Amino acid sequence: PARTAYAGELPMGLQSISNIIAVSSCKGGVGKSTVAVNLAYTLAGMGARVGIFDADVYGPSLPTMVSPENRLLEMNPATKTIIPTEYLGVKLVSFGFAGQGRAIMRGPMVSGVINQLLTTTEWGELDYLLIDMPPGTGDIQLTLCQIAPLTAAVIVTTPQKLAFIDVAKGVRMFSKLKVPCVAVVENMCYFDGDGKRYYPFGKGSGAQVVKQFGIPNLFDLPIKPTLSASGDSGMPEVVADPLSEVAKTFQNLGVCV
Ligand code: ADP
Repeated sequence: PARTAYAGELPMGLQSISNIIAVSSCKGGVGKSTVAVNLAYTLAGMGARVGIFDADVYGPSLPTMVSPENRLLEMNPATKTIIPTEYLGVKLVSFGFAGQGRAIMRGPMVSGVINQLLTTTEWGELDYLLIDMPPGTGDIQLTLCQIAPLTAAVIVTTPQKLAFIDVAKGVRMFSKLKVPCVAVVENMCYFDGDGKRYYPFGKGSGAQVVKQFGIPNLFDLPIKPTLSASGDSGMPEVVADPLSEVAKTFQNLGVCV
């Protein structure tokens, strides 16, 4: 989709990026970072130049989910710009690579740190920058959407009915900012066992979101032990097992963004 939301002057660091995609969720722990990382490596596998910006300064997940050799961001002393680290060809920036541990900061400070990390990084030419958003729809998320000229948003949720209300909030935030939500990913939908498929959280709330808000794509991801294990081991699932059902789902998601 064409970029619609951004009216201001584009920050220097972001000028050579074709698409900036927000991966968002309204609650923590639903699999947002898992989706952001696997989508990034899927797009890279399709031949795109990709970066991931982990915007969660309170609980950065990226350092656990990927294993770059260089785990510290470097600063270019001449230009005072940040050089991203890299793993399997994807450029990475996270507060977790800034060498300061987890943050105890008030909101405005967080916005400042996010702004600096995002806009003073030498991203170079990228086809996609994926932003792993902090969970929720508060001030920090809004500021981030205003700094970054978002092309589209992907919303990650779980199938519980309760999640519907939160997802609706997320969709409304992006819609106010005129950022199109191109897909909802319903994570941890089902698992297979004894030749049967089980839906532990019930069915249907993702379909309801898609219908009510006119979002064009809905994807289901199963509860899958290797997804969790690959997240913990620093090797994204779609790289470890590129022929799996999950990898296929990510390829279809990749086509929509
Ligand atoms: P969020 O970014 O929303 O906080 P994460 O992506 O960090 O969530 O996921 C939370 C935890 O759940 C991680 O340990 C991750 O590996 C695991 N996880 C996420 N999705 C799945 C899944 N579909 N199957 C199994 N484990 C998952």
